[in-house]
Amino acid sequence: VRDSVTQRKRVLLANPRGYCAGVDRAVVTVEKALDLYGAPVYVRKQIVHNVHVVRTLEARGAIFVEETEEVPEGAIVVFSAHGVAPVVHEEAKLRNLRTIDATCPLVTKVHNEARRFADEDYDILLIGHEGHEEVVGTSGEAPEHIHLIDGPDDVANVTVRDPDKVVWLSQTTLSVDETMRTVEALRERFPNLISPPSDDICYATQNRQLAVKRLAPQADVVLVVGSRNSSNSVRLVEVALESGAGSSYLIDYPEDIDLGWFAGATTVGVTSGASVPEDLVRGVLDVLAGQGFGDVEIVTEAEERLTFSLPKELRRDLRAAA
Ligand code: SF4
Repeated sequence: VRDSVTQRKRVLLANPRGYCAGVDRAVVTVEKALDLYGAPVYVRKQIVHNVHVVRTLEARGAIFVEETEEVPEGAIVVFSAHGVAPVVHEEAKLRNLRTIDATCPLVTKVHNEARRFADEDYDILLIGHEGHEEVVGTSGEAPEHIHLIDGPDDVANVTVRDPDKVVWLSQTTLSVDETMRTVEALRERFPNLISPPSDDICYATQNRQLAVKRLAPQADVVLVVGSRNSSNSVRLVEVALESGAGSSYLIDYPEDIDLGWFAGATTVGVTSGASVPEDLVRGVLDVLAGQGFGDVEIVTEAEERLTFSLPKELRRDLRAAA
């Protein structure tokens, strides 16, 4: 019998959560660039989609711009983890910018796939969210070959040149389950559809979703730390709700928590998106402990050990300065 007075209050903390290898590399790239070259260092777009990370780097002297034309001639500019279209590299060259490319290698992998299939003259069905920076960058590799498919409802509208020569690729931070539904719908229309050579949805996105799936059925509430423009963080809220959480909220900061969310709750799940520093999660756990949820159980889905080396242009300058 569930007794709300005697029931033990607990937190289920997802593992893995927070920073992935690509985000860590991108943030460290800006930090090291600031140390090495001094402020200001320009960054095209948010280096990663997290309000706190961007504010912290701004305080250290990073200047975030939307386009390369806002960067003074000859200055240093870092490209964000989400990747850029080739035309952005060309614009930067024309303006004599010194570029450091912090595109996640797993995004670069998708760019390479897009180029390869475009070279082989396939129509490429890119599953992703319209307007997301990663999708804009990937589409720019072969705009004449790529059709954006923004979810299963988009499948009926796409037209291709040869229905027997189509491949699907995807954004790295999508819901695994929804993407598979989209692929099934595409395959019904195009039975000879080819799949990407390896998963485009990255390991970090997959692992964070699996960990949430595991804890959500036991959770009255799931808190996801992450920003609204962070695709993988928003997906974690959706996955929590689809997997049986009573409710789920996306919060940037511990201060965003509404204590009313915990009325009658005994189990609170906590996770964070791939662009979220761990100190924000610790702040959330402190708030929860203050509400009697001091007992934290870790729910482990996978251990992650992947790391990426810094962009080669930065490594070269760091070596020269050593
Ligand atoms: Fe790279 Fe995945 Fe992290 Fe995006 S979420 S930066 S693709 S590892």
